[in-house]
Amino acid sequence: MNTIAAISTAIGVGGIGIVRMSGEKCFDILEIFFKSKKGVNIKNIKGYTIKYGYIVDEDNFVDEVLVSFFRAPNSYTAENLCEISSHGGTYIVKKILEICLKNGAQLAEPGEFTKRAFLNGRIDLSQAEAVIDIINSKTEKEAKSSIYQLNGGLSKYIKNIKEILMSFMVEIEVSIDYPEYDIEEVNIEKALNILSKVKYELEVLKKSFDNGKIIKDGINVALIGRPNVGKSSLLNAILKEERAIVTDIEGTTRDIIEESITVSGIPINIIDTAGIRKSNNKIEEIGIKKSREIAQRADLIMLLLDSTRTINKEEQEIIELIKNKKSIIILNKIDLNKININKKELEKNSKVIEISAKEGIGIEKIYKEIERLFNLNEINTDNSIVVTNIRHKTLLDEALKECCEALKTIKENMPIDIISISVKNIMQKLGEITGEEISSDIIKEIFSRFCLGK
Ligand code: GDP
Repeated sequence: MNTIAAISTAIGVGGIGIVRMSGEKCFDILEIFFKSKKGVNIKNIKGYTIKYGYIVDEDNFVDEVLVSFFRAPNSYTAENLCEISSHGGTYIVKKILEICLKNGAQLAEPGEFTKRAFLNGRIDLSQAEAVIDIINSKTEKEAKSSIYQLNGGLSKYIKNIKEILMSFMVEIEVSIDYPEYDIEEVNIEKALNILSKVKYELEVLKKSFDNGKIIKDGINVALIGRPNVGKSSLLNAILKEERAIVTDIEGTTRDIIEESITVSGIPINIIDTAGIRKSNNKIEEIGIKKSREIAQRADLIMLLLDSTRTINKEEQEIIELIKNKKSIIILNKIDLNKININKKELEKNSKVIEISAKEGIGIEKIYKEIERLFNLNEINTDNSIVVTNIRHKTLLDEALKECCEALKTIKENMPIDIISISVKNIMQKLGEITGEEISSDIIKEIFSRFCLGK
């Protein structure tokens, strides 16, 4: 494969910047412009070593650098690879990349280093996909589940299922192709046992996706309430809390603003309907229609009421609307000691929490309720497989469907060679997760989602 190069660190001012180069000619190209301080011949430099020296471009000194050497197959790509660590900043790093390109390297495509690791057999596709998830992780739980996947957690699990199917397949084929050998026939009971076990294992993986989705995308919470109940104040109180790690996320629509906090290691994205009001630049009641739209998108609805005011018609309608959804009703401004709402009545359908956004009273109870509603404490990413990738989930669904088909076929006493088709299909789907059975178009699609230099 040709030799590729790219900037692997984020563009911008920083302490150091790294240009990475990989491929057969990597060290020949490097030799042209890297001068080691001690004058060591690059051909003699072993893998896993770092050399101090200079980048010199046609007799012009460019920068003082450290170069890390990795020799095939012991590198990220399993090829000869070097990482040139220079001073950070936009100019120097770009200049070094330019010198690599000028001397024979080609600009890497997004994800091409990881793609090579996959194509060269160092990691499988699910591991390669874990790399992009690690890079995009916003929380510890998300990173942990991706690291587990990178270390082959999911691959091993899939491999075990495939092995069970493979040996079953061999038995079927032998009994079809060589009936004259008096081999024990694949009996119905055995086939049922094997496929039921496979079905169970696939279901375990599939179920883990519910948690996986929460780990990756977080929980979408809609904060709704009429003007002046204290939505902005509550949001500010939440964001001020020590445990809340704040990251600003641009809303998916222009009007809606989302704030993301972390509760029990899970991102909680609060859709702030106050933002709608702000961008419309006029005080506007949050109508039923808008609330309905927001409620549809949200995993949880927090209805904020002003405890000093009686519930109006619109709020009553919203209370009705959220009855069948995960919801919390929050009574604000309890510091004013003027409760005008029948809490007992509300408690019939929802959890009711009393707070004072202004005084920061009761905010903790909201987190506790979110934890309880979504069993957040039970989501464990330590050494356990959590499917977080939608591509994997879709393939698991398809494999599971095939498995159910096969079980049905067996129960209907159909010929064994029909089952063999289903078994092959299940293996094919599982192979697509790990990448053994996948088209080059899909591979291209997957790696195009990577960032440059990875
Ligand atoms: P929003 O329109 O729902 O976003 O409401 P704001 O957060 O802007 O609050 C409206 C008014 O209520 C402001 O004057 C706040 O200071 C006041 N407010 C909000 N929360 C509380 C609270 O817990 N106690 C008291 N006494 N006033 C509050």
